Amino acid sequence: MAKTILVIEDNQQNMYLTTFILEKHGHEVIQAWDGRQGIEAAMQNTPELILLDIQLPEMDGYAVAASLKANPLLAKVPIVAVTSYAMAGDKERILAAGCNGYIEKPINPETFIEQLSIFLKQPAGEGA
Ligand code: MN
Repeated sequence: MAKTILVIEDNQQNMYLTTFILEKHGHEVIQAWDGRQGIEAAMQNTPELILLDIQLPEMDGYAVAASLKANPLLAKVPIVAVTSYAMAGDKERILAAGCNGYIEKPINPETFIEQLSIFLKQPAGEGA
């Protein structure tokens, strides 16, 4: 089932690949290239899923996740961190920041949608 998915990612290649895969599977993608743009886009569109890069300019993904989860209108929207950070402590920090899960970069086009499927099946958040 088609979902509206907000992708917050500053790397062009990753953004294009992520968008391509999601749109190929029928989802609508909203692109944001930094954290502030991402938070604004989330407030304007109330997406059903947010994919969040952790390494972002100015405001990193941890701060973005914390800000999104602090907003009562957005708190129920699942956030999946997409990150090249692979250390155990980083994963804990990602979840502690409010992310519901994470996918490790590099993105594997063969398994990406499957990795997201559990989050795409979750009931929609507020306002959807
Ligand atoms: Mn990045």
